Amino acid sequence: MDIRFEKAATLKEKPDQNNLGFGKYFTDYMFEMDWDKGQGWHDARITPYGPIPIEPGCVILHYAQETFEGLKAYRRDDGKIQLFRPEMNAKRMQNSNDRLCMPKVEVEDFITAIKELVKVEKDWVPSLPNTSLYIRPFMFATEEALGVHQAISYKFLIITSPVGAYYAEGLNPVKIMIEDELVRAVKGGTGFTKCGGNYAGSIAGQVKAEAQGYDQVLWLDGETRTYVEEVGSMNIMFKIDGEIYTAPIEGTVLPGVTRDSMIHLLRDWGYKVNETHLKATDLMQAGHDGKLEEVFGTGTAAVISPVGQLKFKDDVVVVNNGEIGELTQKLYDTLTDIQWGRIPDKYGWTEVVC
Ligand SMILES: *Cc1c(COP(=O)(O)O)cnc(C)c1O
Repeated sequence: MDIRFEKAATLKEKPDQNNLGFGKYFTDYMFEMDWDKGQGWHDARITPYGPIPIEPGCVILHYAQETFEGLKAYRRDDGKIQLFRPEMNAKRMQNSNDRLCMPKVEVEDFITAIKELVKVEKDWVPSLPNTSLYIRPFMFATEEALGVHQAISYKFLIITSPVGAYYAEGLNPVKIMIEDELVRAVKGGTGFTKCGGNYAGSIAGQVKAEAQGYDQVLWLDGETRTYVEEVGSMNIMFKIDGEIYTAPIEGTVLPGVTRDSMIHLLRDWGYKVNETHLKATDLMQAGHDGKLEEVFGTGTAAVISPVGQLKFKDDVVVVNNGEIGELTQKLYDTLTDIQWGRIPDKYGWTEVVC
């Protein structure tokens, strides 16, 4: 893949690393390439970050044929910059695109494009503890046509944003509401993909949770609304009576890179990890019986998000006195130490960019 480089006339001022927030600032450049039926991918380029002209009749604006990914570049103490398991994101995007009938980017090209963009933007990778450069690859249909069909032209872009620790106040436990009416995914649907449509449909649940004083929604299975699946943008794990429980990857749950990494660590440490269907009622009962020891969400943005309270219908359970659990903290520390290169990476998960 040849990547053309177009220099920006002026560069932006870098934001204060103490107040980065999440996804508020965008860097000077972006990666872009186009796909047309018969031609395939062409015109790979790194150009100044800016608006992309699209037609009002463009497929994406009407039928949401869009997929995306999310990963980070981490600055180590020695100044080097590294990625964490980028091939997992590359393959997951291929799976998403298969489901949405969109063209695929080769794993190698996906990683090369990210690395070349990160090299150009290396000064944007922040250095304060737990800050990083968030990388957002995404693809959408650009064809101008109102018939519902598989589009014949697409754009693949990568934008980057320096981000702080996801939760400004540190690892504070969140309050989660189990949604018993609205659903996020059903078997045969798009739950396993990172496609924009999944999130548009989930906002109503988020609004409902917030109105009741909760931070996020825990979705149940779409068919019976009985079994716990995942949170808005995180997988979720429960420590019950010494064992770990999390929903299996069977088409409705997003196969998280963080989820997979946590399962590796947990099994390495001798924990029994059950990838199984867990009833919301059994979960609440475990809470009342004093067996629900820890609950935490896992995802690239927050890494780990301890859960301090769960609500299901009129039932409320406080987890670990609303404090972060010992295992949750250990997982967070270990994974972030690997990601930021503070301890040896015995799993071969990290890849130096420059
Ligand atoms: C991105 C995402 C996750 C977490 O995946 P990671 O690869 O760990 O970042 C979990 N659930 C949903 C719905 C997501 O969109």
